[in-house]
Amino acid sequence: MQYDLFTSVPAFRLISLSSGSSGNCYYLGTSKYGILIDAGIGMRTLKKYLRDYGVAMETIIAVLVTHDHGDHIKSISGLGGKLNIPVYATETVHFGIERSKYLESSISASRRVIEKNMPFSIKDFQITAFDVPHDTIENVGYQIKIGEKTVVLITDVGRITPTIEEFAKTANHLIIEANYDEEMLLNGRYPQHLKQRITSGMGHLSNRLTGELLTSIYSNQLDEVWLCHLSQDNNHPELAYKTVEIALKEKGISVGKDIVLKTLSRGKPSGLREF
Ligand SMILES: [Zn+2]
Ligand SMILES: [Zn+2]
Repeated sequence: MQYDLFTSVPAFRLISLSSGSSGNCYYLGTSKYGILIDAGIGMRTLKKYLRDYGVAMETIIAVLVTHDHGDHIKSISGLGGKLNIPVYATETVHFGIERSKYLESSISASRRVIEKNMPFSIKDFQITAFDVPHDTIENVGYQIKIGEKTVVLITDVGRITPTIEEFAKTANHLIIEANYDEEMLLNGRYPQHLKQRITSGMGHLSNRLTGELLTSIYSNQLDEVWLCHLSQDNNHPELAYKTVEIALKEKGISVGKDIVLKTLSRGKPSGLREF
């Protein structure tokens, strides 16, 4: 773990404030500045969570948006509108946000357009967005570098692509979706069209496919993996963890020794990582 030598405080912190279809929001920050990735929880809850971790709202200098689904943009009007915090998204994702029923007031003054595969910087954060297939007009993952460390977030993943593998390989800390257990979804109460949507290659990622991705991209630079966006109906945290753990073990990668693995709880802060 890399600490500032003089103050012995962490150089930066990563927090999962909420994960899952009821709302997704991550915080990444240094002692001076912070950014949010997605803003899928209500403003009041978001403010409370940040306060609980001692993060002042005034230190938030950007919100990065993956895509326009409600569970990722619920408080985007509050952040981008009322608080005028810059909202970073691709042109297409901005278009999606603008026509979304979750947008309560205009965020045009805080609109910042980014391009996929074009690195950009905000203060100490070096950021690259990349394409992630999902059933919306556009969805991106984010690679964020602070100093020597790289955090990669990939959520709402229809299928694994070479681009996803390429970016996942760069991570020291990876947040990756493990949405559903294949058997639970198959035998569950969801209507057939919804089951098809989820498994279509434009929906979400199963525990099994997440395990396969991790075994194929693993190297000793990958320190920690957080499994995110677990389905309430078609998954259990223990099942997601076990499925991925077994997949890794089959390739000789030992959870706890070679890699730290965590599942993020739905709808409440759960992960905290200090670098
Ligand atoms: Zn989602
Ligand atoms: Zn989505």
